Amino acid sequence: MKKLLFFTCLFLIISCQQNFKIDTKMNPFFQDWSKNYDVPPFLDIKDDHFMPAFKKGMEDNLKEIDIITNNTEHPTFTNTIEELERTGKLLTKVQRVFSNLSSSNTNLQLQELQRELSPMLSSHYDKILLNKDLFNRVEVIWNERESLDLTKEQQKLLKDRRNQFVRNGALLDSVEKKQIIEINSKISELTTAFGQNLLAETNGYELILNKSDLDGLSEGVISAASNAASLKMNQTDINTVKEKYKEKYLFTPHRTSMYPFLTESTRRDLREKLYKSYILRGDNNNESDNKNILAQIARLRSERANILGYKSHAHFVLEQNMLKTPEEVYDLLIQLWKPALKRAKAEVADMQAIADIEGKDFKIAAWDWWHYSEKVRKEKYDLDESAIRPYMSLDNVIKGVFNTTNKLWGLNFKERFDIDLYHPDARIWEVTDKDGTYLAMFIGDYFTRPNKRGGAWMSTFKGQSNLDGTQRPVVVNVCNFPAPVGDNPSLLSFENAVTLFHEFGHAMHGILTNVTYGSMAGTSGPRDFIELPSQLLEHWVSEPEVLKSFATHYKSGETIDDELIEKLLKAAKFNQGFINTEYLAASLLDMDWHTLSYKDSVKITNNFEKNSMNKIGLIDEIAPRYRSTYFAHIFSGGYSSGYYSYIHSAVLDSDAFGAFKEVGDIFDPALSSKLREHIYEKGSTEDAMDLYVNFRGRKPIIAPLLKVRGLDGSSD
Ligand SMILES: [Zn+2]
Repeated sequence: MKKLLFFTCLFLIISCQQNFKIDTKMNPFFQDWSKNYDVPPFLDIKDDHFMPAFKKGMEDNLKEIDIITNNTEHPTFTNTIEELERTGKLLTKVQRVFSNLSSSNTNLQLQELQRELSPMLSSHYDKILLNKDLFNRVEVIWNERESLDLTKEQQKLLKDRRNQFVRNGALLDSVEKKQIIEINSKISELTTAFGQNLLAETNGYELILNKSDLDGLSEGVISAASNAASLKMNQTDINTVKEKYKEKYLFTPHRTSMYPFLTESTRRDLREKLYKSYILRGDNNNESDNKNILAQIARLRSERANILGYKSHAHFVLEQNMLKTPEEVYDLLIQLWKPALKRAKAEVADMQAIADIEGKDFKIAAWDWWHYSEKVRKEKYDLDESAIRPYMSLDNVIKGVFNTTNKLWGLNFKERFDIDLYHPDARIWEVTDKDGTYLAMFIGDYFTRPNKRGGAWMSTFKGQSNLDGTQRPVVVNVCNFPAPVGDNPSLLSFENAVTLFHEFGHAMHGILTNVTYGSMAGTSGPRDFIELPSQLLEHWVSEPEVLKSFATHYKSGETIDDELIEKLLKAAKFNQGFINTEYLAASLLDMDWHTLSYKDSVKITNNFEKNSMNKIGLIDEIAPRYRSTYFAHIFSGGYSSGYYSYIHSAVLDSDAFGAFKEVGDIFDPALSSKLREHIYEKGSTEDAMDLYVNFRGRKPIIAPLLKVRGLDGSSD
């Protein structure tokens, strides 16, 4: 035994020592990936490869910056701004893979690395953004910009680059700069902790049921829950744990598990249990509690904004957006809030009426919403969600979105089976343009699994640039759809199908992008603009012409009929009070957190959210779409003071789709190509409002959105 221990230790020491040496031959990050379309060689990448690659990436990056700042020639756009675009290639390469896998396929080692890396990276970028010599060069070019004969794209890049420095404190004195560095690093640690607590809380609760607890549940939901329990059983060798899941049914606060349960279960007590486990995530006064963390984040952001000369974090963020001030955002949100809340109250009354008729002796509560709204849907809209699913197999919906972009822009998709990916569920397609030109690789990773964070998103493993030759992107969509059960395919809800179109809209933004400078490619534009390309594509999935092109029954092969389509479309206006109210409540909550002055931010109490919601009159039957303690968009993602962006983009997408409706052809060739040219290809190379106006011929208006959502009074 002793001998064995000795050898183990020896091995550990050797492997530790090896870790410090950067082996440029074996580490895949130091190799060229171009022979495989720049798709990372996932099978070769081991968790141990990340840290050495990050360290070398940061080191190289700083050396490259030194070369720029040591250049004795007069600063020019070419020798400074353009050279900056060429820096940090290795770092970006490893960072993209790391951040993607940390979100979609994480493990304990990656999580540990994330904690370790997050302050290292934030301090690395501070070194660049607070580099005085570098900023001085940028400033010289900025002051000479009028005489430089720059293209429009170059002017925008110069402006963005200078802004980036100034917004990170380049104009501050050294004491203030130090404060900013410390704040950034603290925020970075806190946001990582927030996300990890949230994952722990979401995975930490399990509703394990017996056969006798399944009242009301459909066959599909039962077998998914039984599968989930079996999976847990098979993952362990410990008998007591096996016993816990044996012949049981497992539900969790993941939305894909919770929503079907809340909709179908007739056990009100269990609905309440599961719902509360969801809305109390991060708010359980345990080691994963997020209350203190998020209050600190809000305070630090407000402190940073004040140092940089802004009234609040929201003022700081919005300056870059299409809506430029908190007043403009509140104005938009409140305009929509009133009709949304009015509809929501009417929806509660509809549900209460059904409960009363059933002779139930209770007032509709938040955990009853899905169950009773489904009854209203069946009664008023005669649409049974389970009647739709058989037409929405994952492959059908993928085919639908591919067809749509083929008809709009002539794109073609060829699935590749010869490229290894990071998980067996992930798939990859080669995307080519109308004339056969290679455009991108597209990865789709659609099924839910425990080591994937919740929600759905688009990201890139490789960006696009035309600076030094043509470099095409590798784009990924990640979703949390139900995995196939038995021999049946994965059957999506219509909402899932809309999500797939949404994420694919982002993917299109990443795939069609065609800019010179990589930092301005794809989804690099302002938050309240970048949901336009995604949400716009959602409109096509609801068009009968498109539905008929892909929605065939997975068993009979029959195409979805007109009657079902009509019901589906009518049902789109259903529950809009709830959907808009929960969303707008979260948007307003985000704005309230981030318009705090520093003085007020130090006085935050745990009642902040409650007070904020009382102020707008949110009803008890609805919680904000995200409560603060699990509002990852704003406390661990990049959406602080920007959650409103979705609805602002919705104003844009409803108005933009209106253009197709006006000409009476949803695939109108002239409009399609204008859309591609001005919206999907341009990245952030021009001001977002200019891009929109170039496509639409005028500024956006709000009326089409109110009509689309049935909030214009026509459904009252
Ligand atoms: Zn989106």
